[in-house]
Amino acid sequence: MTLTFRRFDLKLRHTWAIASDVTTGGKNFYPVVFVELEDGQGRRGVGEGAPSSRYKESTDTVIAFLRRVEASRLSFDDVAGSMAYLESVAPGNYPAKTAVNLALLDGAAKAARKSVCEFLNLGFTEGRHVTSLTIGIDRPEMVRQKVREAEDFPVLKVKLGSPDDRALFAAVREVAPHKPIRVDANEGWPKKEDALHRIEWLAAEGNVQFVEQPMPAASDPNDLAWLKARSPLPLFGDESYHHPSQAALAAECFHGVNVKLVKTTGLSGGLEALRAARQLGLKTMLGCMIESSVLISAAAHLAELTDYLDLDGNVLITNDPFRGVRTADGLMSFAGAPELFGLRVQSADGSGN
Ligand SMILES: [Mg+2]
Repeated sequence: MTLTFRRFDLKLRHTWAIASDVTTGGKNFYPVVFVELEDGQGRRGVGEGAPSSRYKESTDTVIAFLRRVEASRLSFDDVAGSMAYLESVAPGNYPAKTAVNLALLDGAAKAARKSVCEFLNLGFTEGRHVTSLTIGIDRPEMVRQKVREAEDFPVLKVKLGSPDDRALFAAVREVAPHKPIRVDANEGWPKKEDALHRIEWLAAEGNVQFVEQPMPAASDPNDLAWLKARSPLPLFGDESYHHPSQAALAAECFHGVNVKLVKTTGLSGGLEALRAARQLGLKTMLGCMIESSVLISAAAHLAELTDYLDLDGNVLITNDPFRGVRTADGLMSFAGAPELFGLRVQSADGSGN
């Protein structure tokens, strides 16, 4: 087996900012690392790691980890054993492990002549899975422009958690007065009383589906449970949920969880995190970082385990080097997709594509 990797800068269509960027300014590009595995017998898999500064990760930490990996210890025929080996290299390093996990499953599924969702015994129902499009924190005139550009998406996710929440939300509503909105505060409301006040305001605004991570993940769980008990809108944990072992606490503090492959060690970990949450009655969504079609397509293969999708990373960039799942009017589809992460998905009427 050979393992190769390269850094790649994804270019953003618009400057991107969330709550933690308000003091430092937004980003115009987002660096990721692409990985390729090749086994010498013509079997090949690709993967991607999108590191997040929120978790003290960078392309440097991803590449430093990958340089420590002995490719001879990885096998398309033993994904679980390969992941156990990666865990033995070093703890953490989730984006690097995610990239290798995607490449392993891509190669394993292709070797089995199945799509990844088939390989994982999930399937993918065409015509069912709709993603939101995310509007980052920006000046009101730019927010209005972004919302106009997102006209074809039936649901928006709006980033709040800055001092200008009300002006930003008002700008969205000027252009899209009735469109369903998901709000993501990205830990931006640290005081529980203030968080409740803002959630009550959003509930009164109408057509807000839920609020994601209103308070910091490091908050006292009693405060998070206090907020859940009083919130007029469902609350979703994102920064608070990384691993199936956190599902029980998440069920006390939230109504649902946002799973991202780069937080949960790829498709293997994401699958476990989604199933653990569902077993405890939590609603589930799949989210993303700024990512290419590799990570977005991989995540879409887990769509059947979710209630909501926020898989728009590849829509927010202008130089995606890959093609995989397609998004049109918010609807995600593998119909006519190239070989990336497999084909042969099921349509709603049961026919193959
Ligand atoms: Mg989030």
